[in-house]
Amino acid sequence: MNDSNENNETLLDTSIVYDYKDFPDKRSGRCDNCGEANFKSSVKDYVFLRECTKCGLKKSI
Ligand SMILES: [Zn+2]
Repeated sequence: MNDSNENNETLLDTSIVYDYKDFPDKRSGRCDNCGEANFKSSVKDYVFLRECTKCGLKKSI
């Protein structure tokens, strides 16, 4: 029933940390999910994490 996604944009799962190399920004510096341009930055295990302040999408850079 819920298999069809009428939206062309596939929303990324905010519970997963994506690798920027595999999921580069569709628009540079913008969140893929919501288009937000503000991010929180953190470093974990020497990996730079960028988290969207709006929807929480995380990417390792
Ligand atoms: Zn977002």
